[in-house]
Amino acid sequence: MTGQLWLVSTPIGNLGDLPPRAVSTLSACALICCEDTRHSGKLLKHAGVEGVPLAVANEHTEDSRARDVLALLKAGRDVAMLTDAGTPGISDPGARLVRAAIEAGHRVSAVPGPAALVMGLVLSGFDTTRFVFEGFLPRSGKERAQRIAEIADERRTIVLYEAPHRVERTVADLLAACGPEREIALARELTKLHEETWRGTLADAVTHLAEQEPRGEFVVVVEGASDAVGATDEAIISALRMALAGGADRRTAIATVTASTGASKRRVYDLALTIPR
Ligand code: SAM
Repeated sequence: MTGQLWLVSTPIGNLGDLPPRAVSTLSACALICCEDTRHSGKLLKHAGVEGVPLAVANEHTEDSRARDVLALLKAGRDVAMLTDAGTPGISDPGARLVRAAIEAGHRVSAVPGPAALVMGLVLSGFDTTRFVFEGFLPRSGKERAQRIAEIADERRTIVLYEAPHRVERTVADLLAACGPEREIALARELTKLHEETWRGTLADAVTHLAEQEPRGEFVVVVEGASDAVGATDEAIISALRMALAGGADRRTAIATVTASTGASKRRVYDLALTIPR
């Protein structure tokens, strides 16, 4: 019987969010891989996990660590991977250990738990049925421009990670590519004392961020393109006029045009106000 690799999620801010199964799983492992032994050592002490050796598996050492991990798994011992916060493998090390374990024929499982992308997405209020996760955008150059252009055309909800000192620049670049009316949500300090989710247009987001220095880590959620660029204002007004001329009352006309254009109900409602009664 070979051992099992466990991906163990840890809190993204609030220590109360350590998954209940994490402690028993970690305590039963022969080795715990982590990004930073001091950081994870504190969490493990707080959780009461004792006597399990820690080894660094960060972006530089994950591949070389795989050798020790595979040897333990082969010997029938379980190994855990955790990162500084959230779910390993999500914009964090872990995926390469998973691949190595799978290729060597070992079992892999997880103790699921916090992931900032999921919390940011569900708090955004945008469509959660289909979404894409972009992680961190490249910091500069052609690759960044290309990814932002793809986001502008993306019809599904888009989730990004961003550091506080780069969020203003990223929002400004999104504004230039997606236009001022596209809706976004800025979710920061999730699960922490100063948790806040701000929602509004990209144009308002630039003003909001300029008002005070952005603090904490951010999940940036961008509404998919369909509402924002699917139909021009003129096309929506023309569809509204036709529905009204056909005998529909305003409420029905707004509902019909919202469904047929894919535009947001609020936008159609605002445009309906510009048509004289
Ligand atoms: N593995 C982690 C996860 O599952 O969410 C992500 C690690 S990635 C290195 C760190 C980024 O996640 C941050 O820059 C931020 O974009 C996001 N993040 C992590 N914790 C967060 C929090 N409490 N509030 C908002 N964003 C957070």
